This record gives sequence, structure tokens and C-alpha cells, in this order.
Amino acid sequence: GWLLGSSVVLLALTTGCFLFMLSTILRQKKLSDVKNDFINNMTHELKTPLATVTAAVDALQHFGALNDPQKTQTYLTVSRTNLQRLSDLVEKVLNLAVEEKKELVLNPEWIRPSELVNQIISNHQVKADKPVHFEVDIQPGEEPVRIDRFHTTNAINNLIDNAIKYSGESVTIRITSGRQERVWRLSVKDNGIGIPRSYQEAIFDRFFRVPTGNLHPVKGFGLGLSYVRQVIDKHGGQIDVISEPGVGSEFILLIPETGGDGHARIRKFPIP
Ligand code: ADP
Repeated sequence: GWLLGSSVVLLALTTGCFLFMLSTILRQKKLSDVKNDFINNMTHELKTPLATVTAAVDALQHFGALNDPQKTQTYLTVSRTNLQRLSDLVEKVLNLAVEEKKELVLNPEWIRPSELVNQIISNHQVKADKPVHFEVDIQPGEEPVRIDRFHTTNAINNLIDNAIKYSGESVTIRITSGRQERVWRLSVKDNGIGIPRSYQEAIFDRFFRVPTGNLHPVKGFGLGLSYVRQVIDKHGGQIDVISEPGVGSEFILLIPETGGDGHARIRKFPIP
């Protein structure tokens, strides 16, 4: 009980400090609206497990649950699970804060797009938590392009994660990969909720999420697409979005074949 109580206090303090730090960072960036959304989002994510652990500790300390070994076990398990959830969350956001400070540095190598994309799709088929139907159109025998494997993989994974997150129960994702002369073109297209025209540029800003008035309960921090844009930018590439609410979205990446070397720059996504 004591141990549990003090870990709850410690976690509350850590997360409190952390929220304060984040709000300071965000205030400096003068992103007041975006900041509020982000803080609301975080607050919700933190409050639920904190409230659960608090209730479990109260039950043990004040409501006699300690006299019942089975209840004790249950409340301890609930507490442990929720403390883990909090600790994962804090870890995740601390990592984001660290990543934020670091300039993204590419470590380019020659890679065949078809090999990279096939690998990404087979990993996704294993981990998706709802049935996803992939339609894949990959140009075979392509020439390699010079890109950073780690960051390019993450960027494509973010697009696929979003395609799954922002779709209903029946998800079809169409992935097209091919060369257009000296440029690698990759498209991730979904049949999801779509993005209103007026938000199609803002979604690439840090912490921006399309306001939905709680129409859909999808969680996120609004950082995925800003990372994708940063990665594509570093490769001297371009990212385009074509989307219609209620129909779906398509994200198209264009990366020049020697993009990872900073050569052959082509038009970048306009920075607002
Ligand atoms: P997150 O998903 O964590 O909110 P992102 O930066 O990846 O952050 O995306 C920003 C916002 O863009 C999302 O909150 C969502 O509103 C919108 N969005 C991104 N991808 C899609 C998609 N495939 N379909 C519909 N909306 C999307």
C-alpha cells in the first residue's frame, strides 16, 4: 500500500512537471490553440490511469479490500497495469521531446524501393489490430534509390498507421510504388474518413490534429505527419495529399533517386 501510494505520488509529480515543461515549450512557440488541444489530449490520457490507480489504492487502504486476498490481488494487478501504462506514456512523450531537439540526420544507403515496401507491408500484416486489406502495386526490378532506411521506413509506417487509424472497420489500403524517371513515387491510399480541404496543409504541422468534435475517438499527438514531412524534406523530396471527406485520403511521396545525399532537390511541400 505504502509503496503503491508513493509510486502514484511520484508518477503524478513526474507527469505534472512534464506537462508544465511541455506547456512552456509550446508557449514559447506561440502555438496556443494547438497547445490546448495537445494538453487536453495528454491530460485525458494521464487522468484515466491515475484515477484508476487512486481508486484501487483507496479501496485497499480505506475500504477493507486488504482483508480479502483475492480483492487485494485484483487491485494490485489493476494498479500495476495502469502504472505501466503511465510509465509507457511518459517514456513516449519524453522521447518525443528529445527527438524534437535533435536535428534529423540521414544515413543514406542504396535500397530497392520494392524490397523496402514489401518488408514494411509484411510487418504491418502481423501487427494490425483490425483486419486490413492491402492492395499492393509494386513495380518489380526497380533500380535502387539512395535513402535512409530507418527514417524512410518510419515515415511510410506512419502513413500506413494513419490510414488504418482514420478508417472504419473495413480498411483497404492501396500501396503503389514505382519510378518516374529519376524519382521514386510511393503512394498510400485509404478509404477512410478523409481530410477537409481547409486542413490539408495544417496536418503537416507539429501537434496539429483535425478537430472532429469527438466524432472519432482516435488517439494521437499530431506528430506523425510532421515527422514524415521532415524526413521527405531531408531527402529533398515532396509530399502531396489528395483527400475527400467520407471517401478517403491518398498520401504521395516523391523522392529523388539520390535524395539521401541531398542532391537532385525537387519542389518541397510548401511550409506555411
Ligand atoms: P496523429 O495521427 O497522431 O493525430 P498525424 O500528424 O499523423 O498525427 O496526423 C495529423 C492529423 O491528420 C490527424 O490527427 C488526422 O486528423 C489527420 N490525418 C492523418 N492521416 C489521415 C488519414 N489517412 N485519413 C484521415 N485523416 C488523417
